[in-house]
Amino acid sequence: MLVVKKFGGTSVANKEKIYNVAKRCAEEYKKGHNVVVVLSAMGKLTDELIAMAKDINPNPSKREMDMLLTTGEQTSVALMAMAFDVLGIPAISLNAYQVAMHTTSAYGNARIKRIDSERISHELDQKKIVIITGFQGVNKYDDYTTLGRGGSDTTAVALAASLNADTCEIFTDVDGVYTADPRYVPKARKLDEITYDEMLDLATLGAGVLHNRSVEMAKKYGVPLVVRSSLSNEEGTVVKEDVKVERMLVSGVAADRNVARISVVGLDDKPGIAFRVFDVLAKANINVDMILQSVGRNNTKDISFTVSGDVADEALKVIEDSKSRLNPEHVEIEKNVAKISVVGAGMMSNPGVAAKMFECLFNADINIKMISTSEIRVTVLIDEAEAVKAMNATHDAFGLED
Ligand code: ASP
Ligand code: MG
Repeated sequence: MLVVKKFGGTSVANKEKIYNVAKRCAEEYKKGHNVVVVLSAMGKLTDELIAMAKDINPNPSKREMDMLLTTGEQTSVALMAMAFDVLGIPAISLNAYQVAMHTTSAYGNARIKRIDSERISHELDQKKIVIITGFQGVNKYDDYTTLGRGGSDTTAVALAASLNADTCEIFTDVDGVYTADPRYVPKARKLDEITYDEMLDLATLGAGVLHNRSVEMAKKYGVPLVVRSSLSNEEGTVVKEDVKVERMLVSGVAADRNVARISVVGLDDKPGIAFRVFDVLAKANINVDMILQSVGRNNTKDISFTVSGDVADEALKVIEDSKSRLNPEHVEIEKNVAKISVVGAGMMSNPGVAAKMFECLFNADINIKMISTSEIRVTVLIDEAEAVKAMNATHDAFGLED
């Protein structure tokens, strides 16, 4: 039996926590299992490294950023190996270069292409626990890359897939996946099971427990995934293709506050205009999320769209720089907005989820600015100030509490 165990930054934040992780892994090892451990950087180290970089140079190169950030995970794995040594358990730490973990060349946002498993297998054959740096890879120039914030989850799932692990456990500071973020929704409840598709939507829409690409990869390769607490022995939440329990209409509510809306007002109402707007954004590599085009009037129309808050100013600039080509009356940006989504595989066979969500927002006197839907999701854009109220109202309306 081979298990991959991934521990996040809070789970390895200090000496006591490092020993706690080492002891948990030692228990698994003593059962005779092969254990691969994937670690994030300690505590808030990644944030601190980013702050250090910005202090030296407000505009650091992406290559040097990755060179810097990869040291965080390298620190964790080396210290963990030392803790295992004290416990008398044979272990070895490996970074992305030593493994090797091959990625695309995009610094700061690389994707895993291939993992060489020989070195890992060799070390496991020597009966060692193998501790691997999360979040990092190596590109074709032999440079370090990183997978995007929160990317250690994806490292763990990729390793589980390539080593054909029996399970991939993601240990964190919460005891599983919740129906909503319990910090904002007091009645939120832990889910025992959730499908890959639901988890993917929740992760993408701001649930924060798993890196969305890790879920995508788990689904693609059928990796059995469990999210559980590093501090207790609770069962956690199993993420898989199909769930046993009778399907709830809605499994969870997610909120994403890191979003902005841009409206391009008074565009010509003729073919090719939408293409031009989204073409300039695509050429600038900006991902667009929700899109709304108004019905034309007086030969003009408006197009609004949302983007991640991280690229809002860049997106605005791209549109303003293309004013001569797009010829709008004016362009607006709104940053104090939030996306609230309800997600559930049960929606596919049950009409009325959108109506129910809109009704409960109406009852709570919350105005909807934009709407988008998929087979298993309804998302609305609202004022950020009303996000918590909207989450709780929706959570209640769908009966997600215990
Ligand atoms: N240390 C990285 C971050 O803070 C990767 C991770 O935690 O998964 O984003
Ligand atoms: Mg994380």
